[in-house]
Amino acid sequence: MEKNVKYLIIGQGLVGTWLGYFLQQRNISFAIVNDSSTASATKVASGVMNPVTGRRMVQTWMIEEVLPFAVSSYESFQEKTNTKIINAAPVVLIHPSQQMKDSFEYRMDHDNVYLKNNNPLTWDSFFNMHFGTGEIESCYWIDLIAFLEAGKKQFAENYIESNFDYNHLKLVDKGIDWNNISAEKIIFCDGVNTMMNPYFKTLPFAPNKGEALIVEIKGLPSKHIYKNNLAIIPWKENLFWVGSSFEWDYTSTIPTDAFKQKTIESLNALLKIPYKIVDHFVGIRPANTERRPFVGLHPSYPQIGICNGMGTKGCSLAPYFTHELIEHIENNAPLHVEANVQRFKHLMSV
Ligand SMILES: Cc1cc2nc3c(=O)[nH]c(=O)nc-3n(C[C@H](O)[C@H](O)[C@H](O)COP(=O)(O)OP(=O)(O)OC[C@H]3O[C@@H](n4cnc5c(N)ncnc54)[C@H](O)[C@@H]3O)c2cc1C
Repeated sequence: MEKNVKYLIIGQGLVGTWLGYFLQQRNISFAIVNDSSTASATKVASGVMNPVTGRRMVQTWMIEEVLPFAVSSYESFQEKTNTKIINAAPVVLIHPSQQMKDSFEYRMDHDNVYLKNNNPLTWDSFFNMHFGTGEIESCYWIDLIAFLEAGKKQFAENYIESNFDYNHLKLVDKGIDWNNISAEKIIFCDGVNTMMNPYFKTLPFAPNKGEALIVEIKGLPSKHIYKNNLAIIPWKENLFWVGSSFEWDYTSTIPTDAFKQKTIESLNALLKIPYKIVDHFVGIRPANTERRPFVGLHPSYPQIGICNGMGTKGCSLAPYFTHELIEHIENNAPLHVEANVQRFKHLMSV
């Protein structure tokens, strides 16, 4: 059956779901092609939005604009789809060393509005704490599995379960044709697979491997996120996502015994209560050397667009930048210079 839409979206991960959602809210026609058998970073991510990053505990890039927008977008998505998606959950920092404690205290005294003190006694029955605790406010975890499922349901009439094959893409005057679909724009939201895309493969992608365990920890309160050398994040009832590794140079994309053993050692040192490992998985983050997203239209083919490169911050960046891309295409609004894919025009010229 032939289909004529304004936008064809490739991929229904975090990015494709937000793009589809905002188009739907504006009554703009779209179709979304997704192959659920291909790898998806969103399906294995822990879903944390945290305004503070790194060992130096600095504020995350653009957080003051991006976080409030993300929170209100997840809340509105949650209300529209009648599905619990977003959970406020302060991060309890269990300082792993004196140096990290000092770094936290320094930042708390120097202009980091998200950091505050925390009473270690609250956590004494759960954790071994040698260097005290701290807290990060305005943190959230997103139930990404529920988010993807609710998105798929919400787009039931627009969703096509299929593998997108670049060989069948035809560029036509003012648009594209793919199989029986005609569209004015095609937007690639296919995560790390964009690295094989003939139009965007020259972008400086730097995919990053992350492994995580799903661990049953009965009795551990699930209204917080815990961070030591590991992050322990609520997942489902009594289950926690524990991880993760962060590897730029990897030789395989399968779970490794080395990660599992190292995580078990860390859990043994940290937890005072029993736990049981129930799963172990891997995902590849669609990251890049600049740690900034790729958003916008191809410099030579304006009917082809991209929204990608969200790296480790997809949950907070995806709502903001998919919305910005739609504003750019529909209303000529400027894209943020650090995110605009046209900064790599020289790499993409054909
Ligand atoms: C272990 C791990 C932990 C993470 N933790 C966090 C976190 O706590 N907070 C945070 O903000 N971010 C986190 N991230 C990063 C986050 O997951 C990503 O930034 C985000 O999920 C990227 O979304 P995406 O839509 O670009 O890609 P993806 O989620 O990979 O989506 C791409 C979609 O395209 C589909 N697709 C691909 N190729 C094709 C094709 N040819 N045809 C049809 N469909 C196709 C795939 O099936 C998939 O559905 C984590 C990532 C990993 C790996």
